[in-house]
Amino acid sequence: MERLDAFMARANAAYYASHDPFADFTTAPEISQAFGEVLGLWAAVTWQAMGSPKHVLLAEAGPGRGTLMADALRAIGRMVPDFAAALTVHLVETSPTLRAEQAARVPGAVWHDDVASLPAGPLLLLANEFLDALPIRQFRRRGEGWTEHFVADGALVEQPAEAPGLAAGEGEIVERCDVGHAIVAGLATRIAAHGGAALFIDYGPEHSAPGDSLQALRNGEPADPLVDPGMADLTAHVDFAGLAATARQAGAAVQGPVPQGVFLTRLGLVQRSGALARSRPPAGASAIMQAASRLIEPHAMGRLFKAMAVCHPGLPPLPGFSA
Ligand code: SAH
Repeated sequence: MERLDAFMARANAAYYASHDPFADFTTAPEISQAFGEVLGLWAAVTWQAMGSPKHVLLAEAGPGRGTLMADALRAIGRMVPDFAAALTVHLVETSPTLRAEQAARVPGAVWHDDVASLPAGPLLLLANEFLDALPIRQFRRRGEGWTEHFVADGALVEQPAEAPGLAAGEGEIVERCDVGHAIVAGLATRIAAHGGAALFIDYGPEHSAPGDSLQALRNGEPADPLVDPGMADLTAHVDFAGLAATARQAGAAVQGPVPQGVFLTRLGLVQRSGALARSRPPAGASAIMQAASRLIEPHAMGRLFKAMAVCHPGLPPLPGFSA
């Protein structure tokens, strides 16, 4: 018997080390190059708002194939050469397979196992679909007490537990991502001390809510998350409100969350896509505009996904977070 978070950590470590996850699901940077480009320019404007420090870390957590960072660096190099000259690239990745893919697209990066080992100094961190892959615990309200979910032989087992410090009605499940809170608290502390911002884009509701959101994708199809660990990608909704509270407690400010569609529209993703489309033959042009719609439209990825920044309290409203 294994606690759910230990099971999920083990399953995903095996999965990301042995599979090409992008055969099972696609992510925003893989849908359109404009996504990484506008996030790179978001980082550049934020760097200027920080007072354009001479040295800054540009980091990414869970960079997947390295596509987002490659697109971001290309846009930064063309549009904001001073920022390109000031930054050093750091990638936080645990999978050796994906590190090799990232090295092919982002030469010269420095890799880390954990955000805690990023060197000190002003930091701009990007993280797309990183938090949703981190292990969660699930608790269930049972009468006056609580139980916690464990996994044994592909099935859930409830064990008596301490109160998790979250609200739930009788029989309801609440989820808590302890690793995510620890990562956000660590980033918030260093950002409050050394400056910068961390931008998280992920899927989850605006307000914390009870419910079981653990899901598995195997060969592109929904699967049972508890069987065959390592064969499917396991994710859970990100509790933005809970993580925002953790970040504020650690001394940082929080901007957002705002829906991804709103955020990307404000960053000019549609205009950038239009510019890319103009230089393509008709079929390519319409594919680029369809990709933009997929990222922005509420019924596609535009509403379920949110953007939230953990930043130094001295920063003004950052691009995408105010109208
Ligand atoms: N950001 C990419 C990839 C998302 S998949 C994209 O948008 O396409 C999740 C990524 O997080 C993978 O690169 C995976 O290997 C990495 N990852 C998962 N758990 C991690 C952990 N605990 N520490 C560091 N990286 C992790």
